[in-house]
Amino acid sequence: MIPFLDLKRINLNYRQQMNEAIQRVLDSGWYIRGKECEAFEREYAAYCGTKYCVGVANGLDAIRLVLLAYIEQGVMQQGDEVIVPANTFVASILAISQAGLTPVLVEPDINTYNIDPSLVEEKITPRTKAILAVHLYGQISPMDELSEIASKHNLKLLEDAAQAHGAIYRGRKAGNLSDAATFSFYPAKNLGAIGDAGAVTTNDSQLAALVKSIANYGSDEKYVFEQKGVNSRLDELQAAVLSVKLKGIDEDSKQRHRNAQYYLDNIKNEKIILPQVTNMEEHAFHLFVIRTKQRDKLQQYLLDNGIQTQIHYPIPPHKQQAYKELSDLSLPITELIHNEVLSIPLFIGITEAEVQKIVETLNKW
Ligand SMILES: *Cc1c(COP(=O)(O)O)cnc(C)c1O
Repeated sequence: MIPFLDLKRINLNYRQQMNEAIQRVLDSGWYIRGKECEAFEREYAAYCGTKYCVGVANGLDAIRLVLLAYIEQGVMQQGDEVIVPANTFVASILAISQAGLTPVLVEPDINTYNIDPSLVEEKITPRTKAILAVHLYGQISPMDELSEIASKHNLKLLEDAAQAHGAIYRGRKAGNLSDAATFSFYPAKNLGAIGDAGAVTTNDSQLAALVKSIANYGSDEKYVFEQKGVNSRLDELQAAVLSVKLKGIDEDSKQRHRNAQYYLDNIKNEKIILPQVTNMEEHAFHLFVIRTKQRDKLQQYLLDNGIQTQIHYPIPPHKQQAYKELSDLSLPITELIHNEVLSIPLFIGITEAEVQKIVETLNKW
């Protein structure tokens, strides 16, 4: 069986250095808010090209913390609206709800699966305060168009970059294309910890300080509380592991690009739509997502032939019980995408033979 994802294989290259890092943290006797987190924040900010990075507990919290910080600053208020693509992973939308704001769903572009900028302006109301772009599957959203709309209407532009570590847009990296960006280091992401972890990147010093404080109960100084904060910190163990893996992320990306290019060049089946890639080098290729009218049949066929796949995602957020208040929305492109997409294996450590077998099996379908 070719697995969709093999986290053990992904981490194999880093095994020794990760073990050393884990040992170092254990022996340090200091596990939260210490040198490892500071070092990773510095390194990850440098990697993204931003002035600041704040480590937090996970990617969902990273988004929520940015929004809470803006509420704290008075930039947004409870009940204000945030524009977000309708086909994102539900966490982008949950973060908006959890901050007391209202998600406003916008259809994606059927070719890129990212938010369609031509549909954004019609959704703007006097309560709209931000656009949360999501770089889905690893390809950057149309940031120039979004940035123009955001400036025109005085909105914050944010990135959910949980799937786009290292992706590039006009020479700049994901995380450095907006007012504030958020990352997840969930084990399966392109930069993955061995547990939950996340970060916020920004060039705004006040926002960075506020996110850091709110993530630590609203406290910058021990037992002095300036905001009603939460507990959402990046621990030393995850930070140390992330510093090790950050050193290899560009090498990992090359492997993703090689395999993605192989798929693009060799999958030849009229029934399958391949992803549209503007620029291979700039795409983080978190996922390789194909589309077909008979998605469920294809998934079963691949499984029968020893190939595991996943669907990102089977049910759109507005059709989830959790968001039943949104169930009447008409979002035909989003629904079509959810009915047709299928993600094929593209994890670090997948072998050439495995990739070849996947192509041959797809071409025979
Ligand atoms: C993974 C992911 C998140 C959430 O990250 P967690 O660390 O799992 O909380 C948010 N948005 C997108 C687009 C994601 O893929």
